[in-house]
Amino acid sequence: MAIWNLGSINLDLVYSLSHFPAAGETLAAQAFHRYLGGKGANMSVAGARAGATVHHIGAVGTDGAEMVGKLTDTGVKTDHIAKVPVATGHAVISVVAGTDGDAGENQIILFPGANQTLTKAQVAQALDGAKAGDIFVTQNETNMQVEACRMAAEKGLRVCYAAAPFDADAVAAVLPYLDFLILNEVEAAQLAEATGQQPEALGVRDVIITLGSKGARHIDCTTGQTHDVKAFRVEPVDTTGAGDTFTGYVLAGLDQGQSMAEAMETANRAGAVMVTRHGTSDVIPTLAEVNAADL
Ligand code: ATP
Repeated sequence: MAIWNLGSINLDLVYSLSHFPAAGETLAAQAFHRYLGGKGANMSVAGARAGATVHHIGAVGTDGAEMVGKLTDTGVKTDHIAKVPVATGHAVISVVAGTDGDAGENQIILFPGANQTLTKAQVAQALDGAKAGDIFVTQNETNMQVEACRMAAEKGLRVCYAAAPFDADAVAAVLPYLDFLILNEVEAAQLAEATGQQPEALGVRDVIITLGSKGARHIDCTTGQTHDVKAFRVEPVDTTGAGDTFTGYVLAGLDQGQSMAEAMETANRAGAVMVTRHGTSDVIPTLAEVNAADL
């Protein structure tokens, strides 16, 4: 089996600053790092590190070889990543270092670039290689998610939507095609507010709500049964990417034939390990690390 992930690929440019620059101020950064980012790429890396075969469907610019190389290095299949004549999606992230004032705060400029240039033909060609029963996943960071969910559902794939960045209209557009809906607690509340209904009443078969330091909840919407996993007690240092890691792991478990409860157990461990690490896709733990973690 395999996971097909239509998702964003970003270059994250991270600058450590003493303070946020004022208008007109030029400020030298104290440190600079470049990372593979984007919710889509993070989920692909998590799925691959969890042991699944993950095909990433996406696009980068002519400057995107570095990001595709990083995905390939983690074992993600990159044959369906288009190279287009616009900039690779990128995020300019300023983080205030130190302990005073705005310390720890960040500011992010996001340029979606190539992530918004996907075509229906590209998605159709990629999904030609998919088989009924495979898993399709997407998030809200590309321009083809609705068409792709429809095509994946028609082919008999199990379709999952991770509702981030949250947009109620984006959820409504993919809802008819979904088997799984994954949200965090804030997104679940936003969706309930927008629709006037709880997420489990929207016609999706399975809803998973991640609850940060409280763990995660699965709702089997056919029976109404819920299954909770309690978070492991860890000292979090950076929660970025915890949700993407959880999603990649839970889908990898399901793809490998595990029950939802088994898949969530491992995903919950992976999320706990992830929050003890600084960074995003580069530090998403492998299954061996997740299993060996002393939690
Ligand atoms: P992000 O947007 O930062 O990627 P998220 O809000 O989508 O995260 P969370 O609900 O914060 O996702 O976290 C996902 C999963 O990671 C949780 O369900 C849990 O398994 C694990 N996790 C997150 N925070 C903690 C924590 N403080 N302690 C232990 N596990 C955690």
